[in-house]
Amino acid sequence: MKKTGHRKDKWVFGPDTHGHFGIYGGRFVPETLIHALNELAEAYHAVRRNQSFKKELSHYLATYAGRPTPLYFARNLSQSLGRNLNVYLKREDLCHTGAHKINNTIGQGLLARYLGKNRIIAETGAGQHGVASATAARLLKLSCDVYMGTEDMKRQALNVYKMKLLGARVIPVTSGSKTLKDATNEAIRDWVTHVDSTHYLLGSAVGPHPYPAMVRDFQLVIGREARAQIRRCQRSKVDVLIACVGGGSNAIGFFYPFLKDRVKLIGVEAAGEGLHTKHHAASLRKGSLGVLHGMKSLVLQDRDGQIQLAHSISAGLDYPSVGPEHAFLKQTGRAQYETATDADALRGFHALTQLEGIIPALEPAHAVGYLIKSARRFKKGSTVMICLSGRGDKDLDVVRRAEHHLGRMI
Ligand SMILES: *Cc1c(COP(=O)(O)O)cnc(C)c1O
Repeated sequence: MKKTGHRKDKWVFGPDTHGHFGIYGGRFVPETLIHALNELAEAYHAVRRNQSFKKELSHYLATYAGRPTPLYFARNLSQSLGRNLNVYLKREDLCHTGAHKINNTIGQGLLARYLGKNRIIAETGAGQHGVASATAARLLKLSCDVYMGTEDMKRQALNVYKMKLLGARVIPVTSGSKTLKDATNEAIRDWVTHVDSTHYLLGSAVGPHPYPAMVRDFQLVIGREARAQIRRCQRSKVDVLIACVGGGSNAIGFFYPFLKDRVKLIGVEAAGEGLHTKHHAASLRKGSLGVLHGMKSLVLQDRDGQIQLAHSISAGLDYPSVGPEHAFLKQTGRAQYETATDADALRGFHALTQLEGIIPALEPAHAVGYLIKSARRFKKGSTVMICLSGRGDKDLDVVRRAEHHLGRMI
């Protein structure tokens, strides 16, 4: 790994100009996309300093997306955990469209307009990113095509309908496993052929440079707000941050402003039916170095490099790789990565609902479930912040179906 001066600078100013976070990241794409990625990187670099862009983005985040989101002290949950823990929830579930994803889609939508592109394309698994993209497209008067596997379209019919209501075209993908991974391949293929008119709006901190850093930066607002908010309501510092990790965008946006602080960072991956089975999505814990969707990162793959199917009860965590910056934070030891099973997540889901009257999405329910199962290991009196990345309305059917299973568990 290249030294970049002061030890801490390595993770505060990453990636390098080629998009490498240590050995991870970079660009592994067809030649035809290099120009578009360069153009995107340059445009992004320019808008970061552009006052009118920044003003327009904050305006929409405040008046349309509902920012700043509150930081809530979860007194009942804290008391139930014992050990004098103080647990705070960063309420991304209160964002428009129900999750943090809108922060990124508005940001990239504005960037598309800045690039003079009037069409966005997106990939979606559960449909949440598709809905957030279609929403931003309406707001910014862009046309929007969303690639979605036919398996996922069946499972997420309501989100397909929402996207259509929002005027997006949902393009069914029938190749491979007919899920997110295949939808992503199709979206990349579309981009290659329509790169002049089209911006590819990637939904997480993954993909070829500059996407991982750019998506992170659009999600930084989560951590920036949380850092200012915890300072106001708690004299002592925050000790631990916990966030769920799918591609890793809510977690990296939450963690990043705290990297220089003396705070423990814990990312929670989906262990699905257990790490000893093949049915999980724990690419940081069980993956190996590989290339997927234009980046080098930790990937769930077999010995021949065939991508394994990821599994999680929550569709948003069901991705067989992870953003390169998380792989790097793991390698450097700055963040640690733990797991929660489907059962842990359901426990977290019910606990938060019953103790606080907040029905979380199954993704952040993994973070809550992890805290519940490992509270004993936290130092007494610790202040813990959880990124509650989204709300649970979308997951009620899944939870209802899992109920008989849960009856056995409790
Ligand atoms: C999509 C989604 C996630 C996972 O995506 P990241 O990029 O890892 O944040 C987590 N939580 C919710 C509510 C989501 O919709």
